[in-house]
Amino acid sequence: MKKVLLLGASGSIGTQTLDILAAHKDRFELVGFSVGKRIEKIPEIIKTFKTAKYVCVQQEADWIDLRKKYPYLKLFCGDAGLAELISTCNCDMVVNALVGFAGLVPSVTSLRLNKTLCLANKESLVVGGALVRDLLARGSGKLIPIDSEHVAIDKLLTCVPEKKVKKLLITASGGSFRDLPREKLVHVTPEKALAHPTWSMGAKITIDSATMMNKGFEVIEAKWLFDFPLAKTEILMHKESNVHSAVLLDDGTYVADVSKPDMHGPIEYALMERQIDFTLKYVDSLDQFKGMHFGEFDPKRYPAVGIALKAFRKGGNACAVLNAANEEAVYAFLNRKIGFLEIESIVSKALKNVQFIASPSLDDLIRTDAWTRNYVHTYVESRGGRKK
Ligand code: NDP
Ligand code: MG
Repeated sequence: MKKVLLLGASGSIGTQTLDILAAHKDRFELVGFSVGKRIEKIPEIIKTFKTAKYVCVQQEADWIDLRKKYPYLKLFCGDAGLAELISTCNCDMVVNALVGFAGLVPSVTSLRLNKTLCLANKESLVVGGALVRDLLARGSGKLIPIDSEHVAIDKLLTCVPEKKVKKLLITASGGSFRDLPREKLVHVTPEKALAHPTWSMGAKITIDSATMMNKGFEVIEAKWLFDFPLAKTEILMHKESNVHSAVLLDDGTYVADVSKPDMHGPIEYALMERQIDFTLKYVDSLDQFKGMHFGEFDPKRYPAVGIALKAFRKGGNACAVLNAANEEAVYAFLNRKIGFLEIESIVSKALKNVQFIASPSLDDLIRTDAWTRNYVHTYVESRGGRKK
């Protein structure tokens, strides 16, 4: 029986992870979980998973109330609480389904404690990829991706000899505005941006898909996971999101991972530690994959990818600036303080203006995150909340 801790249980990946855990109660025991602000999710989770006794919430006021309501639970609170939860709940495996920079310290803590880390929180690798790689090299912790493109590549690299792989092809749906020309993006609304054509996901990643910052992050994530040359990693536009990624071999053959756009599959692959022994049915018939479309990625249409990769090549704390500026700009857009196209320009400004650190420690990354958020916040407020 694997003892599992789930971080971000109230979110999109968190909820789907609970489905998989419920379908495999003979293999997994949920020992603890965290939610952020959506504490109304707690009663149902503890009713379904009676073994879950360790719980972390984001806000102190909720923690105080919940301690009275559930005296038999071990309750934690805030960022420090997440680290304490990981160290005390005696789990074998941590599923990190937090969104944003909040996921970095929990990933680092899990690997320091030599846990198996099933990672949906791509921001951990974007910001702290070097730290994560170092912890994996020094300890006995393991890292298994949950992001669907990376699960696809992870699977494909077990089927084909890596030295035969000429290119990694990371597929991209193009997000909610893929059929609009760039000049029409000036006045698009958060509601329209949140209507993703193929995936149902949390708000932040849905906006990142519309700018395609998400794809920039995924190329960086692939580099840290597979250490394949960036020059041989390409983005392939694919509207239907059935091909989760592909590799091109040196004899001209494409090998692809094909299934419905449903995150249950990648989550199950990670939880099962790569054994393909699925209980849920992901493909009914090949008929459902008729009429798939592929196209070239246009870097001018989606400049966020170039911004992300430039930050990655710069190294140091640049990706911490990239991530924090993007998070703040995305939330400013969702709160109608800035226009959609300003997300990219604000990230570029932050990358020019926030102090560069060549070899950052974890504390430097935490400081960089705070400086950048402050920079973006001041910039947005100084404009008086006007959209440009
Ligand atoms: P959601 O926004 O749906 O869920 C995020 C979770 O993190 C929620 O449980 C939320 O709590 C919690 N959370 C957010 N901020 C904090 C914080 N400061 N402290 C503690 N908890 C916090 O996101 P998704 O599930 O969509 O995405 C999670 C991660 O997985 C992201 O990194 C995303 O890029 C990645 N991913 C997601 C995919 C998807 O299909 N959704 C696909 C591939 C990758 P609450 O809501 O209770 O406040
Ligand atoms: Mg993905």
